Amino acid sequence: MTLAPKAAQNPDFVHQLVQDYPKFKENRLQHRRFKHQFLQELLLPLSQNGFEINKAGESFKGRDIQVLTIGAGDIKILMWSQMHGDEATATMALLDLSNYLSQNDNADIQELLQRVTLYFVPMLNPDGAEQFQRRTAQGIDMNRDALALQCPESRILKEFRDRINPHFGFNLHDQNDYYTVGLTEKPATISFLAPAYNQAKSINETRLKAMQVIATMNHALQQLIPDQVARYDDRFEPRAFGDNIQKWGTSTILIESGPYPNDPEKQQVRLMNYVALITAIYSIAESSYQVRTHEEYEAIPENYENLNDVMIRGIKVVEGNKAYSLDIAIRKQEFDQNGSFPVYYGGRIEDAGDLSTKYGYREIVAKDLIYAPAKIYPEVLTDLDAARKLPLADLLAQGYTAIRLQVMPTSKACFTLDILGSETTPRWGRRPELIASFLMMRDSTIAYAVINGFVHKIGEPVEKSAHGWVFR
Ligand SMILES: [Zn+2]
Repeated sequence: MTLAPKAAQNPDFVHQLVQDYPKFKENRLQHRRFKHQFLQELLLPLSQNGFEINKAGESFKGRDIQVLTIGAGDIKILMWSQMHGDEATATMALLDLSNYLSQNDNADIQELLQRVTLYFVPMLNPDGAEQFQRRTAQGIDMNRDALALQCPESRILKEFRDRINPHFGFNLHDQNDYYTVGLTEKPATISFLAPAYNQAKSINETRLKAMQVIATMNHALQQLIPDQVARYDDRFEPRAFGDNIQKWGTSTILIESGPYPNDPEKQQVRLMNYVALITAIYSIAESSYQVRTHEEYEAIPENYENLNDVMIRGIKVVEGNKAYSLDIAIRKQEFDQNGSFPVYYGGRIEDAGDLSTKYGYREIVAKDLIYAPAKIYPEVLTDLDAARKLPLADLLAQGYTAIRLQVMPTSKACFTLDILGSETTPRWGRRPELIASFLMMRDSTIAYAVINGFVHKIGEPVEKSAHGWVFR
């Protein structure tokens, strides 16, 4: 049987996938906080398009966990996503991939499906997804439950793997926005791992195959996101699923969907998953991954958590008659309302000192700037409506970064400045853990106001999504 030249051989293949992607993208998924019930609606039509959909079991809270099956080949490939409930990127990609595989009139795909049988378990932790939290409803990290099997979701994965005994397993996760490729400033958009199956991190045939498939996917992704692919730390974790499934004889590949600049809902990263997974499936079907080596896998740089949202370089701090300079790193933590929109941010100082080995998505050279504390508007206002009447640009130019209100707002991301009650003491400043609100002066004028980690350059229009912290 001959398959048209694909993943590993034809460089145009990857670009063709990207070009055709809009035809297969599940457009009803636009953000990461979709829920189990919505996913069920998206899965239904697939059963008319060549997929068999079966219930594999129920989550702790009784939500159905489905397995989608397509293909009639001898090579079995199992892919599961969202074991961590707030890691939804690959679930979106699995839906896109399912649409791609539903092309009944595409001879290449029909041939592919004669060689492989694919099993998808999207959203393995639906209770976690409901709250958009990492852990299961029991408060357990199911990626540390592969041995104890105290979560029904863990037992479903284990029993299903044991029953079909797949040749390949894809363990699909998200990682935070701060991972870089090696020691560079490049974000690690995709990180791979062929998990170790023992403390010695030995390479047996099972693990070698995982490494070869990863090297194949890396080769494809380098065409789209050069230098934005990394390798995850391979320390053996005896309780993790990836490590154990590798040990149980399924060649296991971990994919971490990481950051891509200005892509908070990870739609670009979703596309990279889609490309990587299709590349992997073809290369497995054709055995073309076997031309890759474990050295190629090992040459992928490791990832490090070296990025920040904002990096301020070399700001001068004056305390009494002493002056010194330091770098300040800020990270914005995402918050939501019970797992749903709206999302708001808490911008905190991540670190301060010599941060020359770290990076920021936004870098500010502050060598001619002096640190000054945040400043509260002197008048206590009645409520948010009164605050909205203030001339914001003038206030920022005068260095006012916060207001006091008699009536506190119920929502969190409602105003550009920080909000305090009439008596509240704010915990802000430049020291680690504090909310990042302060001023940066040039001579005696204000150059920047930093409010809850959002950087406002004085004289420039205020960023629409910027908002202060509500100190209650
Ligand atoms: Zn995860």
